[in-house]
Amino acid sequence: MPDNPNLIPPTVFERLKRAAGEGGWTTDLAQLEPHLVDQRKRFRGASPLLLLPDSTARVAEIVRICAESRTPVVPQGGNTGLVGGATPSVLGNEVIINLARMTRVRSIDTAAATITVEAGCVLASVQRAAEAAGYLFPLSLGAEGSCQIGGNLATNAGGLQVLRYGTARALTLGLEAVLPDGRIFSNMLGLVKDNTGYDLKQLFIGAEGTLGIITAAVLRLFPLPHRRVTALIALPAFDAALTTMARLRQASGDRMNACELMSAFALGLAVRHLPGAMTPFATPSPWTLLVEFEASEGMDLDLVVEDAIATLVGSGTVIDAILAGSAGQAQAMWRLREGIPDAQRREGGSIKHDISVPAARAGDFLQEAEAAIATAVPGARVCAFGHLGDGNLHYNISQPAGADEDGFLQKWSDVARLVHDLAVKHGGSISAEHGIGQLKREDLVRYKDPVVLDLMRTIKRTLDPHNIMNPGKVL
Ligand code: FAD
Ligand code: ZN
Repeated sequence: MPDNPNLIPPTVFERLKRAAGEGGWTTDLAQLEPHLVDQRKRFRGASPLLLLPDSTARVAEIVRICAESRTPVVPQGGNTGLVGGATPSVLGNEVIINLARMTRVRSIDTAAATITVEAGCVLASVQRAAEAAGYLFPLSLGAEGSCQIGGNLATNAGGLQVLRYGTARALTLGLEAVLPDGRIFSNMLGLVKDNTGYDLKQLFIGAEGTLGIITAAVLRLFPLPHRRVTALIALPAFDAALTTMARLRQASGDRMNACELMSAFALGLAVRHLPGAMTPFATPSPWTLLVEFEASEGMDLDLVVEDAIATLVGSGTVIDAILAGSAGQAQAMWRLREGIPDAQRREGGSIKHDISVPAARAGDFLQEAEAAIATAVPGARVCAFGHLGDGNLHYNISQPAGADEDGFLQKWSDVARLVHDLAVKHGGSISAEHGIGQLKREDLVRYKDPVVLDLMRTIKRTLDPHNIMNPGKVL
């Protein structure tokens, strides 16, 4: 180790540049800048060197040099993560490895319905490549135009269609990763069945770059849906949302691919702040569902969904519903849901949570959390929305109207403690899809089973004894 831990020795610096190759690195401050701060601008770090290798071999060579010289590494994808996982430390002693130049689609296997991609592929480009081959790659989220598939796997991203297709983990059949000592782990056969010991690829999925750098993956593809049926459903109470989801899944033969929940406040913000947005229902209801179904050819799913909703209206479970009559209308419905975070920003400061609770406990959680917040921060406004189908709520709290934003945001950890305590009390998780990163590292210690934490630390030490791979994240 050099005397000054902030200093990467010049010889190491030169070796790293050489390993990255021409056009594969920069020390330019302006080019480095967007890589030093996270998406929500909550975390800012420093780094003297951004490495942009264009092959797995180069990544391996770079990591070998880092391992030898004990130079810490931050793996980075599209830098859209929401927990500061891809932001380097403030010490300025870490190098960033971003895979933006590793964007090859290695192959598409239509017989097996798989696509093999390099980890730097932007998610939307994987979706497009699959579609061009007549297939669906169903991972879909708001940041899909800039997040990388490597980042999606490293965070086990969820998104909008987990209900039908599962998280990134469920979509992965094979993985290639560079280990913290520079060796290449490769399990790229893409086999559905392979019971030959531990399924080690799972270690890297959701590890947030702490166990190695994912460089390629074999991903599952699905038949392209013939058409989609989309509807907005107004509900009198939260329990009605659960009943409605269950009935519609049943009636459609489990063809529901998305079931998104919006509270009256969340939907109201979207209508108020998104240009051109309109109130879907004449009278606001406490909760609204956005549901979507996928039909194959010859299937009259519109009719099935319409009938099932009519029955729910008849029984008083549903107040009102609108079926999208065109792709444009469906898009407008999705815009209301996806625009909520943006709309919330225009309402001042917000304290954000990404929790999950078992469906049966969600109603109790909502009631208790709302009461606790009303006591802790009088006037604060609960903006609850999220992926009901996965029990995943983005349980965000908007500042009291007209209050001082900074003063409100200073309450972040107190409010988060309260929300997380309740989520865990009801058998849930403090991070349903965004991960731990730097933001929730302390929370992990508070809430995770000590035996599990101990196993996690043991795995980390075994794979990364010198703690060079994304140190200070997760653990
Ligand atoms: P980064 O932000 O660059 O990195 C995230 C983490 O992965 C870091 O810890 C980093 O070190 C690590 N990492 C990145 N690449 C690699 C690699 N190749 N190998 C090893 N580790 C790596 N997330 C959801 O799950 N569901 C959503 O619905 C969702 N919606 C979002 C909507 C918006 C508008 C935004 C801004 C974000 C959203 N996110 C969502 C969060 C984010 O987009 C995801 O976490 C995404 O998977 C991160 O990918 P990335 O390439 O940007 O990774
Ligand atoms: Zn989400």
